[in-house]
Parts: sequence; C-alpha cells; structure tokens
Amino acid sequence: MKKRILVTGGAGFIGSHLCERLLDEGNEVICLDNFFTGSKENIVHLLKNPYFEVIRHDITTPYYLETDQIYNLACPASPIHYQYDPIQTIKASILGSINVLGIAKKTGARVLQASTSEVYGDPQIHPQVESYWGNVNPIGIRSCYDEGKRCAETLFMDYHRCNNVDIRIIRIFNTYGPNMHPQDGRVVSNFIVQALQGKDLTIYGNGLQTRSFQYVSDLVEGMIRMMENENFIGPVNLGNPGEFTMLELAEKVIRLTGSKSKLVFMPLPADDPTQRKPDISLAKEKLKWKPTIALEDGLKETIEYFKRIL
Ligand code: NAD
Ligand code: UDP
Repeated sequence: MKKRILVTGGAGFIGSHLCERLLDEGNEVICLDNFFTGSKENIVHLLKNPYFEVIRHDITTPYYLETDQIYNLACPASPIHYQYDPIQTIKASILGSINVLGIAKKTGARVLQASTSEVYGDPQIHPQVESYWGNVNPIGIRSCYDEGKRCAETLFMDYHRCNNVDIRIIRIFNTYGPNMHPQDGRVVSNFIVQALQGKDLTIYGNGLQTRSFQYVSDLVEGMIRMMENENFIGPVNLGNPGEFTMLELAEKVIRLTGSKSKLVFMPLPADDPTQRKPDISLAKEKLKWKPTIALEDGLKETIEYFKRIL
C-alpha cells in the first residue's frame, strides 16, 4: 500500500538513495532538508516524479505534516562538517529529534532514527555489540555529534516509553557510495578524489586505525527492513563487518583507480577511534539482513561515480 513518508536530510548522501528506493516502491516521499551538506544534484532526477516533494526547512525548528513514516537523517555526518558549527550539529540531533518525535506523537507515524556507531566512541569492546554502552569523550571535538546522537537515542526511547511513540533506532557504521560530496571530507571520498586527481592520499596518523565500510545500497535495504519490522524497535547495528586499516583502504583505492598517487601522513585528529567493526548478529536474527556488496565492488561503483562528476 502506498505510504506517505517523510525523509529528513533526504538531499544528503544516504537520504537521496533512500528517497529513490522508497519512490521506486510506489510511495509518496517528502524530502525535508536545509541543504547544509545535501545538494539538489542528489535529488534533481527525482523531481519529475509527481509523488516526490522537497521542503527547504531546518529541522531544529518545528514542522508539522501528516505522514505514515519518518526517517530522521537530518544531521551533518562528516567530521569536518559537523565540527564547522558544533552547536548547530548538536541542535540538529536533539531539537531535530524532539521535532520529528512531536510529529510522530501527533500523527501516529512510525519514526526511525539514523543513529551511529559513534555512540560507541573509541570502543573498548571489539566488535561492537548493541548492548555495549560505549566510550565517548563528552567534552571533545567529536562530542557535538556523538553526544547529540546518544541524546537522540535517549529521546526516542523516552517518547516510546512515556508516549507510546512507534520508534525504530538503527546504528549506522561507516557507509560510502555514489552521491557523496567530493568535499565531504570522509575517508572514502577523500581517497578516491585524491587518487583520481593525482594528489597524495592523506593518511591521518599512522593509518593503522580500522573502520568497516558498508555500501549504501546494503544500508538502505537494512533501513527499510527495520522500518517495516512490526515488533523490533532496536537499536540495531547496520554495517559491514569487513574491517580494514586506512592503509589497506588507500592501497585498494590506488590499485582500483590505477593512480600514481603516493601517501602523505598527517596528524591524527583528536579522539579519532582506533578501531570499529559491527557485530551484526542482531540484524541477521531480527531483520534477516546482512550486507552483500564487498568493499572492492562498492569502491568500483563509487570510483565510476566520482569519475563522472569531477
Ligand atoms: P550527509 O551530510 O550527506 O546528509 C545529511 C543531510 O542532512 C544533508 O542533506 C543535510 O543538508 C541535512 N541536514 C543537516 N542538518 C540539517 C538540519 N538542521 N535541518 C534539515 N536538514 C539538515 O550525511 P549522510 O552520510 O547521508 O548521513 C545521513 C544520516 O546518517 C546522518 O544523520 C548521519 O549522522 C547518519 N549516519 C551516517 C553514516 C555514514 O557513514 N554515512 C554513519 C552513521 C550515521
Ligand atoms: N581519515 C584519513 N584520511 C582522510 C580522512 C579520514 O586517514 O583523508 C581517517 C580518519 O582519521 C579516521 C578514518 O579515516 O580514522 C575514518 O574517517 P571518516 O571521517 O571517514 O569517518 P569516522 O572517523 O567518522 O569514522
């Protein structure tokens, strides 16, 4: 049955893929975005669909509309962008959550929060399970993002317990793919853009820190399965358990692009987590979900995208 679905942050990297998939499935989609890190290029191809609407709005101020489901993605996600105006970042998570939970409370809509592996901080448990409470610095340069997302989870759980709001919480691990902005600043897009432009790849620290990279289509599948699940509210990890050092990632990008770029070592930013890898047992059990795209295959698609837009 056709649903009316609000996607906050719908013009961003993940949001644009989600809007497209929800439209393909025959839904009516409303994309709400202030275009801080999102772009019209990501959604321009969807505008010809009469069931797609775009609203320019900042989610830190209340908004009201009748809707069946809400995916709450509005928040800058790359360290350079979320640290640009940290107070606005934490407001996007906290006031944004209060505002979407308010819509859900009034309309009875189901609302899904795009939380993050950053709630685990610099984790002392490896791989990370949902029951781990995390190791987050509350006063550092990443705190506006990490603590904002942690508080958002608290708000979601309290609206659920106190007001019976129908919530879902997913914890997204590092995700990459087409529609990332060339100046996004995250490692996959930085390395690919640098390799394609023949510039040195910037390794922060010694490059031995690890991340687990998930291709965006796998994530979107998991998000929709979570939203459509009738009796599991989460939180649930959505990520690809394949774990790589930044040096390994750089080697793959150089090989797949055929670039002559070299590596250049730069200082490690404060509070940069040393390792990260999701335990996805819960997603497998509850959602019958696991990622299907291997890192090299996803990188090839992403490289083709950047070749087209650069
Ligand atoms: P992105 O920066 O491309 O997208 C964020 C979108 O939200 C942008 O379109 C931006 O303009 C919009 N936005 C920001 N502040 C807003 C505000 N106050 N009001 C309205 N719109 C606003 O980032 P992304 O990678 O697509 O991330 C989407 C969501 O997923 C974010 O909430 C992020 O925290 C979460 N997430 C992403 C990853 C990842 O690896 N990509 C990992 C964990 C969590
Ligand atoms: N990183 C890097 N070079 C870059 C950008 C990032 O070595 O040009 C490192 C960064 O220090 C971190 C990892 O890559 O250890 C992932 O960074 P990203 O910003 O993509 O995501 P996050 O740190 O939020 O997981």
